[in-house]
Amino acid sequence: MVDAHQTFVIVGGGLAGAKAAETLRAEGFTGRVILICDERDHPYERPPLSKGYLLGKDERDSVFIHEPAFYAQAHIELHLGQPAVHLDPAAKTVRLGDGTLIAYDKLLLATGAEPRRLHIPGTGLAGVHHLRRLAHAERLRGVLASLGRDNGHLVIAGAGWIGLEVAAAARSYGAEVTIVEPQPTPLHGILGPELGALFTDLHSEHGVRFHFGARFTEIVGHDGMVLAVRTDDGEEHPAHDVLAAIGAAPRTALAEQAGLDVVDRADGGGIAVDAALRTSDPYIYAAGDVAAADHPLLDTRLRVEHWANALNGGPAAARAMLGQDVSYDRIPYFFSDQYDLGMEYSGYAPPGSYDQVVCRGDVGKREFIAFWLSEGRLLAGMNVNVWDVTDTVQQLIRSGAPLDPEKLQDPSVPLESLVP
Ligand SMILES: Cc1cc2nc3c(=O)[nH]c(=O)nc-3n(C[C@H](O)[C@H](O)[C@H](O)COP(=O)(O)OP(=O)(O)OC[C@H]3O[C@@H](n4cnc5c(N)ncnc54)[C@H](O)[C@@H]3O)c2cc1C
Repeated sequence: MVDAHQTFVIVGGGLAGAKAAETLRAEGFTGRVILICDERDHPYERPPLSKGYLLGKDERDSVFIHEPAFYAQAHIELHLGQPAVHLDPAAKTVRLGDGTLIAYDKLLLATGAEPRRLHIPGTGLAGVHHLRRLAHAERLRGVLASLGRDNGHLVIAGAGWIGLEVAAAARSYGAEVTIVEPQPTPLHGILGPELGALFTDLHSEHGVRFHFGARFTEIVGHDGMVLAVRTDDGEEHPAHDVLAAIGAAPRTALAEQAGLDVVDRADGGGIAVDAALRTSDPYIYAAGDVAAADHPLLDTRLRVEHWANALNGGPAAARAMLGQDVSYDRIPYFFSDQYDLGMEYSGYAPPGSYDQVVCRGDVGKREFIAFWLSEGRLLAGMNVNVWDVTDTVQQLIRSGAPLDPEKLQDPSVPLESLVP
């Protein structure tokens, strides 16, 4: 079935890489497909690592994207536990950590992101954790269980999605939790202050303590163990374990080494790609968390660090590699589960981009849809414990049509009726 007329290589075996490999075969590509990943595990999904798997509800096997046998059946050659360490775009080769040289006709960089590190004293202590990989989640699961048993204290740096989801998991194990966050509300840069407060209330009701307006300055330890966290306002928080959940940085090292165009860190970083997910080298593509793509609809360059972008971006890049006409214009989408709150968010409305936020439903009961508007046009929508509205919200965003905020707020007006 496989012929050697062309070799497509994928660096990165996360969701974007695995879905790209699957798509190449689904679209009938008969050349070699080689998937390289520095992790030893077969490609897996990360959302359960801070939710069902961390909570002990999901089995380890449930996180994998495909059955291991799928790769052999689909003739996808795996190099697991092997980093790609050098990329030569002129020779069209990738070198692996063990020295293996692989030639490609087209290459996809799906190298994802890695947790940002705290650069303060004490980060080398054994009780300081990050969460990105399955192995991290395995370890953290044990830590949360023992904190719960021993009435121990977890202090989290960062009230972003991962910090909040781990806080919820930690509380379900019975651990004490404090979150230190420089902004005045959780998720401030994503939801703004109006909706961020929802998550303050939710977590406070579940016993999480917040310390807003402060940053970690030191993790104090003794004999390798964490004892406390100091913050820049002079406070000291007792701690047995610490989670650094201060965001993720795109893994652009290979692209930079190869001289590909990369976006400045100050502008979000990532490998610069066009709407077809092609880098500055016509034979190299990038998708998933690492790609900063020209978004045809939003008319901006965007790096989206969410599951749906890897799920859809990997296949889009694969189709572009096959020469199909691709314009990747998916509306950014993500979801989260914390305690009994489930939510989905579609769109892009960073603080400063919107002039109005309106809600439909019961905010107090946490069953509502929030809408971020700019001059009456919908930029983003978030449904909280309300389901099956994502398609309509995305249609409203995509239409760009001015909306009547009164109707948007009125549950007696069907949302679909507002789509022009
Ligand atoms: C704990 C957690 C929970 C999340 N929850 C949600 C959620 O609820 N909702 C949501 O929308 N999103 C969520 N996300 C985000 C989502 O998981 C990511 O957007 C998605 O994993 C991105 O997929 P990717 O394939 O681009 O990158 P990754 O999943 O990071 O995969 C990239 C892979 O490439 C490997 N790699 C990197 N460099 C090299 C190299 N040089 N050589 C070989 N291999 C390399 C990496 O080790 C990694 O295995 C979560 C993320 C985490 C970490």
